Amino acid sequence: MITGFLAHIRSSPSSLRPTYGLISKLVTSSIETRLPSAMTCLYCIPHVQLQGSYSHWVSFDKGQLLMACYMALQNFPLIKLFGWRITGVLPSAMAIARCIPHFSMSCNICGHMEETDTHAVLSCPLVTEVWQGCDLDTSLWTEPFRTLADCLDKARHSLDENDFGNFLAVIWKCWIVRNRFIFGTPDQNLSILGKRAMDFVAPYREAQQDEVSLQPTRYPTSWTPPMAGYLKLNFDGSSLNNGLWGWGFVLRNHDGDVVLAGAKHGTHSAGPTIEEARSCLCAIKTAFAFGARNLIVKGDCLPLIAILKSHQVHDDAVGLFARDMLSFPALLDFVSWSFVKRGGNRVAHNIAHRQPFYLEGKLWESVVPKDIASPASDDIYAYIEGNFL
Ligand SMILES: [Zn+2]
Repeated sequence: MITGFLAHIRSSPSSLRPTYGLISKLVTSSIETRLPSAMTCLYCIPHVQLQGSYSHWVSFDKGQLLMACYMALQNFPLIKLFGWRITGVLPSAMAIARCIPHFSMSCNICGHMEETDTHAVLSCPLVTEVWQGCDLDTSLWTEPFRTLADCLDKARHSLDENDFGNFLAVIWKCWIVRNRFIFGTPDQNLSILGKRAMDFVAPYREAQQDEVSLQPTRYPTSWTPPMAGYLKLNFDGSSLNNGLWGWGFVLRNHDGDVVLAGAKHGTHSAGPTIEEARSCLCAIKTAFAFGARNLIVKGDCLPLIAILKSHQVHDDAVGLFARDMLSFPALLDFVSWSFVKRGGNRVAHNIAHRQPFYLEGKLWESVVPKDIASPASDDIYAYIEGNFL
């Protein structure tokens, strides 16, 4: 569509050409939405013989193309930002020495005479250990690249979008490893850090791709453990008999262990979706107070999850609670919302329906009653059976 649009611009008399602002908007929106159209657009524009005000576009360079690429990546915002930074100037010793007279340009780690950006994140012996632990094609990081932009440009052409995102995550990790070493908190086990950086972006990507749709067959039906470093928060809210409501949640780690679980019951149920929203808010607040900062939130109420994922909050009771929940990402390092069918939310469901009712609320830390521990371990066995046996 963009190629056609550009061809149209080219063939139009200059007086009829769209404004610079319109093209700018088109480029921006296409970059934000999808990689192929953004790349097509940015590749095409430099080749269009544009005149006058369009001449801005003729000068796209490798760095700007890479920036467009980062913006389109389904990658952690932190890593995207790092991508923009390294396309400009990474504050390596060499870069700082260019600005500050007498600043040493040598590598503080291995003593190499010039710590360029490529040395800092690709070839310094400290970071090569990180690279060696990743199963990435070695030519992507061992070639004598003149600049980091050259290295990234090669990776962008050799890898698909996900792998390029992983590649960027490893560079980001190498920069952190380098800084931590210089500032006196060196990492151990360097060989596992690259893989861990790639694992770090996977849940984010999964959450972005898991768009809410009205085809329930697409959704998971069983519980799966989160990646190491994340906690999975399953919640459930129900209207019970006699106008009572019940909330339940369970917070579990990558081994499937229950680290926190909670229940609360009350009278005068406000209806199923509102009780789901209230239980979700209560679960997040409690998990946050417990110290959880990387949360994968799962619930079996599709309308609520749709609101949380799309941020389309209405002025009603559910919207009121959803707004509060959506304010939490500012406090957390990571949060994603997704729908799971009842089979994958069994523990939280059981807790919400558990008796005796806990009108004052009840929390269990690590040690949970048998009727909660038992379906939790069933989840793990089902996961192992389904994936490894
Ligand atoms: Zn070095």
